[in-house]
Amino acid sequence: MEERGRIPPGLPRPDPTVSYWQDPPAEIADLRTSLDLPDKADYVIVGSGISGACIAFNISCKQPGASVVVLEARQAASGATGRNGGHTKAASYRSFLDHCVGKEKEFGLDEAMRIARLEYSNIEATHALAKQYQIGCDSTPCDTVDIIYSQTHLDAGKQAIERMREVMGHDDPAAKYRIYDARTTRETFLTPTALGAFEYAAGSLSAYAFAIGVLRLGLAKGMNLQTTTPAESISSSGQAIWRVQTPRGSVTTPNLILATNAYTAHLLPQMQGLIVPLHGQVVAQRPGTGLPRHGLTDTYSFIHETGYEYMITRPPGTPDQGTVIIGGGLWKLPNSGASRYGETRDSVLEPTITSFLRDCTTEYFGSNWGQDNSAGRIVKEWSGIMGASADGLPYVGAMSDMPGLWISAAFNGHGMVWCLNAAEALVEMMTGDGAAQKKLDEWFPRSARMSKDRMGRRFMGRKDLRAPGEAEFGERSRL
Ligand SMILES: Cc1cc2nc3c(=O)[nH]c(=O)nc-3n(C[C@H](O)[C@H](O)[C@H](O)COP(=O)(O)OP(=O)(O)OC[C@H]3O[C@@H](n4cnc5c(N)ncnc54)[C@H](O)[C@@H]3O)c2cc1C
Repeated sequence: MEERGRIPPGLPRPDPTVSYWQDPPAEIADLRTSLDLPDKADYVIVGSGISGACIAFNISCKQPGASVVVLEARQAASGATGRNGGHTKAASYRSFLDHCVGKEKEFGLDEAMRIARLEYSNIEATHALAKQYQIGCDSTPCDTVDIIYSQTHLDAGKQAIERMREVMGHDDPAAKYRIYDARTTRETFLTPTALGAFEYAAGSLSAYAFAIGVLRLGLAKGMNLQTTTPAESISSSGQAIWRVQTPRGSVTTPNLILATNAYTAHLLPQMQGLIVPLHGQVVAQRPGTGLPRHGLTDTYSFIHETGYEYMITRPPGTPDQGTVIIGGGLWKLPNSGASRYGETRDSVLEPTITSFLRDCTTEYFGSNWGQDNSAGRIVKEWSGIMGASADGLPYVGAMSDMPGLWISAAFNGHGMVWCLNAAEALVEMMTGDGAAQKKLDEWFPRSARMSKDRMGRRFMGRKDLRAPGEAEFGERSRL
């Protein structure tokens, strides 16, 4: 794994697959607000995914009149944000014990609760923002269910939920879960071989349309978006003025923000091995005749010994209601999918995963799937690149000893659960007064802040694939 972490990410590839969400592309996909690249700005943000979009919008709200330039290597929001699974789902119980009482005893109880509450509130805030600004992204808050196929995960999941209830209180919305036995799970969720299930609040949306909507809000406030303009390198004059070099010239700024997720190490080699690209795959399928026409009421995950799939169905009222969007399949490859780490070609599909994702829905739903749609099962298949961090949390804040350089990146495949709040926190760190900074400490986890200490850790693989509280897969990795 460490070896895969040493592969340089390079710049985003020029020929990515087109995701279901990007077809057709948004009107602003190729926008360059001005013909020429501005030569300076108060803030320069590299990356126009959900992070870059939310950071730019927040700056424009906090400091109207500040000049904000967003540089994007490809089309707008065409990184992970434009090609994800559309799931706003935290699954905080899966990491909670690791954060507080697992073998690693990482952060302590208060911090573990702060993380779980942030994840929950980020989901609510994302759907609320979509509603407030009427962003047409099919934002649908709903319940989600984890269908469990592993006794280890079932037992460990129950323990983690019990612990969360105990310390956070049964009424805390971030600790609210319903637990189902095998029989009820099979009947309620149409999954005939499940061992049990956990159900809790989550949602779905088009992250692409959401980020495009937020970029539009920023544009309306004067933000300058420059697509197809890769930041090739960055340098500092030593007086906290940063220069960003692009093929179209350079731009200087006292505040340079890297919202570059998986690609961060290209501009900041210090992040090599700390943010590791991870190639992920998703498929859109027409539902079988046995599934509800308007889609399932819950979103789903299917949890196995060493990995999982995540699935939403397109909500009622959308032209493609009921369409299944499912991603995952990493655990079908040797060594927990190690070959996918360090891989940045979102122009390609991995054949074993492709074949698994095409067929897994009929396995999960069995005869409840019914017949395939007469138009065929597959609507679209695509890939995207996540940014996995060494300790499983994003890096948000000031880069140590690099005044004027900021980062919000590495969301470990859970960006819809972090990016909006991380953007708000980052802007508060950049612009807030003492009182604001103090308030920030109350709600934003210290463990997700950039720090010298975190720079010393090294990537050993994704933790969220293990059972709650489990330090390693152990024998199960050889199953
Ligand atoms: C296949 C897949 C499925 C996923 N499913 C889910 C899900 O269901 N739920 C969930 O919560 N999360 C999911 N995620 C993760 C989620 O999409 C990300 O965490 C989130 O989108 C990260 O947003 P971001 O803006 O930080 O990064 P990105 O969206 O990756 O944006 C980074 C941007 O920076 C640009 N960039 C990078 N380097 C440069 C440079 N040098 N110059 C200019 N531009 C540059 C990139 O082109 C890109 O547009 C999934 C990710 C993938 C890949």
